[in-house]
Amino acid sequence: MKWICLYHSINAYITVIRFDYNTIKDKNSKRILQMLTNANRTIVHMDLDSFFVSVSRLDEPKLIGKPVIVGGSGDRGVVAACSYEARAYGVHSAMPIRMARKLCPDAIIVRGDFERYSYYSEMVTSIVREKVPVYEKSSIDEFYIDMSGMDRFYGCYDYATELRKSITKETGLPISFGLSQNKTVSKVATNEAKPNGQMQIDRGTEKTFLAPLSIKKIPMVGEKTYTLLRSMGVEKIVTLQLMPVELLQQVLGENGLVIWKKANGLDNSPVEPYSERKSISTEETFEQDTIDVTYLKALIVKMSEKLAFQLRSEKKLTACVSVKLRYSNFDTHTVQARIPYSSSDHTLISRAKELFEKLYERRMLVRLLGIRFSHLVGGGHQINLFDDSEEMINLYQAMDKMRMRYGDTAVQRAIGTDLVCRTFNPFNGQTLSPVPLTIKNEK
Ligand SMILES: [Mg+2]
Repeated sequence: MKWICLYHSINAYITVIRFDYNTIKDKNSKRILQMLTNANRTIVHMDLDSFFVSVSRLDEPKLIGKPVIVGGSGDRGVVAACSYEARAYGVHSAMPIRMARKLCPDAIIVRGDFERYSYYSEMVTSIVREKVPVYEKSSIDEFYIDMSGMDRFYGCYDYATELRKSITKETGLPISFGLSQNKTVSKVATNEAKPNGQMQIDRGTEKTFLAPLSIKKIPMVGEKTYTLLRSMGVEKIVTLQLMPVELLQQVLGENGLVIWKKANGLDNSPVEPYSERKSISTEETFEQDTIDVTYLKALIVKMSEKLAFQLRSEKKLTACVSVKLRYSNFDTHTVQARIPYSSSDHTLISRAKELFEKLYERRMLVRLLGIRFSHLVGGGHQINLFDDSEEMINLYQAMDKMRMRYGDTAVQRAIGTDLVCRTFNPFNGQTLSPVPLTIKNEK
């Protein structure tokens, strides 16, 4: 407890430096202060090794040592995760199962079990929560931990080693970590240490560590950027380090600067403390209270669709849906349900509708309706971790492209579009307000 307090006071001191930094105009002083604050940071990145496969192996030990693919929807599904043995055949996540089968005919395909993954993800999160003061849960199986200042009381590397050991001991799951002065270098280090390993990158050696690695290892270099850079003859990170930043900016636009910084081991981004309460929500107070169930259900669809699009735009998944209802007498009721991590309209809409049915039992006039998605985590390509088919992913990608281009009402479910046209309640003739939805982000 004592060291946690000391840790906080040191962090407060660093925060003061950061605050001062913002008020300083002189460029040189700014640079020096920036160096000082960065030099003080110790960031650990922890990532469970092929998490879904490892959980399946806990339940079915015969899968140990075999090429395993986790995915759903039979032949039309996509690979949600795969074991290192399957990766050796070129299988990777987000690949169609059909293709994975061709590459690795011996692979054992198992269906994902969300309940188990959620259970273990929560178990690991609670161990991390207990042992460190500031952590970010960046995805279902990945954490950033800010250990800045702890070195004075306990070696950060030793502490991270202990934490890694206790996670494996208590859950049975292999996990790896990387430690350095920033998030990017630590994440690359974790990937180099995998499977089941750990690695520290000493201050000042970040560039040397990154130099010989493939540019693919830089977080955020996706397939498109990789192909573009390869066509320019860039293969290793060292080449990016030697390139003038202006050149990269010309080729990659805004991302050029970010990638150049990452290649040079520079990253100031903070560890964003994780909170299950962090959420996105929307609600609507009606100009006139309504009892029109069809209208309310259509509004549920429209709200869920809009929030789900927001999730996908931010590359996030939710694991908890809540519906709020306020009756005309101001009685307010909320009901929530845990769900498999998802950002797909069809899952979220049907769950929100179920909750609404459960909640709206009094058949009284309704004054307000709201929806909230919480327990948010990052989740790249997935929409529904294990139920996605290629068609479904393609459909969502096409719809979202249209929304980004033409606005978020460009594509909607027919039931939701009713709300734009219908301005009166067909049962009592009362005028209804149109539905301009605004989304709230809560921390
Ligand atoms: Mg992982």
